[in-house]
Amino acid sequence: MTPLETPPGARRRLEISNPATLERVGEIEVMNADDVREALGRARKAQPAWAALEVEERARYVRRALAVLLERMDRVIEIVMRESGKPASEALTIDVFAVCDAMTYWSKHAPRILAPEKQRLHGMLRFMKKLEIVYRPLGVVGVISPWNGPVILSLNPTVQALLAGNTVLLKPSEVTPFSGQIVGDIFKAAGLPEDVLTVLTGDGETGAALVAAGVDKISFTGSVATGRRVAVACAERLIPCTLELGGKDPMIVCEDADLDAAAAGAVAGGFLNTGQYCCGTERVYVVDSVAQLFTEKVVERTRSLRQADAGEFDVGAMFWPRQLEIVERHVDEARARGAEVLSGGRRNPALPGLFYEPTVMTGVADDTALMREETFGPVLPIVPVRDVEEAIARANDTRYGLGANVWTRDVARGREIALRIDSGSVCINDMTMTYGASEAPFGGRKESGVGQVNGSLGPRGYAYAQAILTDRFGGRQAANHYPYTHAKDAGMKKFLRFLFGTPLARWLS
Ligand code: NAD
Repeated sequence: MTPLETPPGARRRLEISNPATLERVGEIEVMNADDVREALGRARKAQPAWAALEVEERARYVRRALAVLLERMDRVIEIVMRESGKPASEALTIDVFAVCDAMTYWSKHAPRILAPEKQRLHGMLRFMKKLEIVYRPLGVVGVISPWNGPVILSLNPTVQALLAGNTVLLKPSEVTPFSGQIVGDIFKAAGLPEDVLTVLTGDGETGAALVAAGVDKISFTGSVATGRRVAVACAERLIPCTLELGGKDPMIVCEDADLDAAAAGAVAGGFLNTGQYCCGTERVYVVDSVAQLFTEKVVERTRSLRQADAGEFDVGAMFWPRQLEIVERHVDEARARGAEVLSGGRRNPALPGLFYEPTVMTGVADDTALMREETFGPVLPIVPVRDVEEAIARANDTRYGLGANVWTRDVARGREIALRIDSGSVCINDMTMTYGASEAPFGGRKESGVGQVNGSLGPRGYAYAQAILTDRFGGRQAANHYPYTHAKDAGMKKFLRFLFGTPLARWLS
């Protein structure tokens, strides 16, 4: 992604290139604050008619968009591969399968999740009032997405926000804008009414303008640094936001783990999407007694991985130069501080593009960037530990808390360990893949985020729960409110003693 020269007063333009071949893919215009305000005005006008539809009617548009996506699957894979340099199999699983699954799940379950609920009241109130909770749309939602899962991370929040009755302004990453545009294109082809979903191309300028424009919520997925800026800007405007941010996920390998499965899980968790996966495994803590055998198995599997810029291969390019530089800096610093590289540890010299070899390291000092900061690349540092207690302590010794994975044949013990890890999700005997389970609330602890997406909280997060409390007696009791008298207070005291001083109140509750 390179800035192009633009005449004064014109919108900035960015050139997008293929990280695997370094060839030009195309260019985009950076939408400015005026463009964003204008799009917001149109989205606001379109919102009441969209909100007036039943959730089931909105779900029909989602299903139609899914049918379009399936028709265009090969084209989608091509666009994603060209912008990201990833293997076809990963474009197929991460950017097509996950998207199809999310659209199917939300279009089926959102009508239930967003349906009005009647809730029985507690105590004496239940004899006097009826409560209904209605999930009403917020208005216009701004979705800001990153480059690493360019279709799914743009589409998943967008679909949930649309189903909840909002119109959406989507600002995909400037690194992968054409993949983000797929979301707008499939809904357009599905006949979505004009201005219900608008894709805004651009970079941080456009994202910041979107936050400032006057939308009713921001759903942000990206780095901690940008997330912090977005949170501050939302706080100033008193609008809600969810922040899905970075991670430094630990993997714990117990002495009773199936080591072949764990080694395969480490390799998949570390190198999926070339390590550019928010819940990628970034630190491996393995109990001493099995550390050597486990490490040998990981290295053997890693050495068998193929890298290429076309055809069949396993590990793709880094999406853009900045990420490659971070990976090089982390590995080089760790090596300079005494770490041993067991596999990889360098740019792939056989390929012109942004390829970094899948890398396994040991002996990495605990205070290096590789162990402390998000690397977001194909690097697996393996750390032998005395026992599981030490593994848990080290897993938690981080400012992040997105995901974690634990490997043991004793699932009950795995659960005990999971309960002691301070992260938004934990997978037992698999790499972290909670985002793909739409039923599971997904979010980060500590600096990994604020709020959660998915689960029933997901669509409801794009609505406000309006409480409608109706008097059962047509409001006649209001006449008894005044006047306040000592006699009434004395009667009330007697009644309180009777109600709360006996088991009656608990029974009524
Ligand atoms: P980033 O923060 O650089 O950019 C994310 C988005 O924010 C982009 O669309 C960008 O244009 C926009 N942006 C930049 N400045 C902005 C501003 N001031 N105001 C508003 N928007 C602005 O992140 P990235 O490099 O694109 O993505 C990688 C990061 O995303 C990693 O840290 C990764 O862990 C994280 N991530 C988290 C999750 C999750 O679910 N927790 C999922 C995927 C990626």
